[in-house]
Amino acid sequence: MLAAIFEASGRPLAIERVPDPAASTNELVVRVGACGVCGSDIHAAKHSDSVLGRPLPAGTILGHEFAGEVVEVGPGAGERWRIGDRIAGFPIFSCGACEACRSGRVAHCRAARFVGLSGAQGAYAEYACASSAHSVPLASHVSFGAASVAEPLAVCLHAARFAMPLRGASVLILGAGPIGLLLAAVCRHHGARDVVVSDLVGARAERALLVGATGAIDASREDTRESFRAIAGRRPTVVFDAAGGTGTLDLAMDLAGRDARIVVVAPLSEKSPVATMAGFYKELTVGFAKAYTTGEFREACRLIGTGAIDVEPVITASVGLDAFPGVFESLALPGVHGKVLLEPLN
Ligand SMILES: [Zn+2]
Ligand SMILES: [Zn+2]
Repeated sequence: MLAAIFEASGRPLAIERVPDPAASTNELVVRVGACGVCGSDIHAAKHSDSVLGRPLPAGTILGHEFAGEVVEVGPGAGERWRIGDRIAGFPIFSCGACEACRSGRVAHCRAARFVGLSGAQGAYAEYACASSAHSVPLASHVSFGAASVAEPLAVCLHAARFAMPLRGASVLILGAGPIGLLLAAVCRHHGARDVVVSDLVGARAERALLVGATGAIDASREDTRESFRAIAGRRPTVVFDAAGGTGTLDLAMDLAGRDARIVVVAPLSEKSPVATMAGFYKELTVGFAKAYTTGEFREACRLIGTGAIDVEPVITASVGLDAFPGVFESLALPGVHGKVLLEPLN
């Protein structure tokens, strides 16, 4: 098969022919219909030691947000799957027996392997492996592109749990990347009164209005504190840090109102200084959200399938394998893109 191979930091991905994956125990092989580009992929490829805690090995195939058609069912996968089934690929393999696994928190399993990041090849390729235990079948009307967004949507459902109750809340989301946009949709779904997304690129922040946000702030030109107050009439009761840069948690704590809940989603900066006194005086609660449970992944698929959450406005481009390395490079630079999909068979 053809795949986009990571060779070294600072070098573009290389399209190469490699052996097709085979399904091991409890695995499915899918023909990849779509695979989303995640900020962690870009980060891992650029600064390969900071997401994983160690360098990304040469030869890695990244990509963990994927959907496709089952072409092989591995041993132990049971009667549940048939060749030709359309699925959202669950990208974590785990032991299935430990306390974390039994409670659905498979990302915390000591034996966890994460497709496309650690211990399992990913879906920037024509074929990839997915968990037979936790992948989710798709109704025929759900596109592979929309289904591939289930993974980052699950991240947002998980993060939202730290901010509950969201009903009536005034939410500020820092960062209008795909996670910020999907968080906006999730907060509205949970009944938040105000959902305001702020980004240093105004055109990115504006996109949040398409997924239900009640306000957008161009932080390059506006004072986020003043603009939020103008929209919501009060300070944020919930702040999500979906920007993940140095100083963004500190900013979140500074902008938050008294008793606010702050949730950090996928922090990408190792050391981030915070003004702890702001936290003390305002009695802030700060949570850190990592990945999602198996139940949240199923819920994300359900919300997409029923149309309760429309992920289409989040998707801004889809490309084939030939153009993919160049597009992947460009996403490391500041820009206006939302979720970009690789559609390897197009
Ligand atoms: Zn991701
Ligand atoms: Zn386990």
